Amino acid sequence: MSPPPSFVLGVDLDGVCGDHTQAFRAIVARELGVPESTLGPQQSWTFEEWGLDGERFLAIHRMAVLEDRMFLTMPPMPGVSDALWRLSDAGVWIRLITHRLYANWGHAVAVADTVAWLDEHAIPYRDLCFLGQKPHVEADAYIDDAPHNIEALRGTGSPVIVFDQPYNRELDGPRAHDWLEVEDIVRAMMAEQGHPVQEQMPIGTDPARLRRAAR
Ligand SMILES: [Mg+2]
Repeated sequence: MSPPPSFVLGVDLDGVCGDHTQAFRAIVARELGVPESTLGPQQSWTFEEWGLDGERFLAIHRMAVLEDRMFLTMPPMPGVSDALWRLSDAGVWIRLITHRLYANWGHAVAVADTVAWLDEHAIPYRDLCFLGQKPHVEADAYIDDAPHNIEALRGTGSPVIVFDQPYNRELDGPRAHDWLEVEDIVRAMMAEQGHPVQEQMPIGTDPARLRRAAR
């Protein structure tokens, strides 16, 4: 008999696992020659409130990825690794989804830095999808911060948890303000969809977990 299928959780990276706004703010401040404190919370998808037009945004973003190696140095969201490990132990299949290849340059750096960052911060995953426009990857539930992705996914009938950010406040919940809340919502969704939530397992011998636990 085959084992029951895992509950697949589609997890976005920027603005959910990694603090994209904070990483990008430091670089924009340097490029504009202004203190970081003058660049407030991200309110729009293209950072117009920081005085960037579309062209300037793309130019600085390109520099951020290729020269500052933002995908390698981005701060992780607090608690993301622990929460994803606990969910993985509870039987969740973690499918990371990112749209980081939206520009037609720098794919080698973007992909390599993404994978190195995931290792560095001990973020567990079984699949890693670099996607273009289409956000749907056959998951049982998703977590995302981008209004256009959340709306597109919900349009296919998929449950989506909104990871709270200033630019997505107009969207309906479920909404998580941190990774502990993500964990609670996912466990409730698993129960609702009839997936068994496995008991917490001991830390085991996985090298990434042991490395993380030793920190
Ligand atoms: Mg995102």
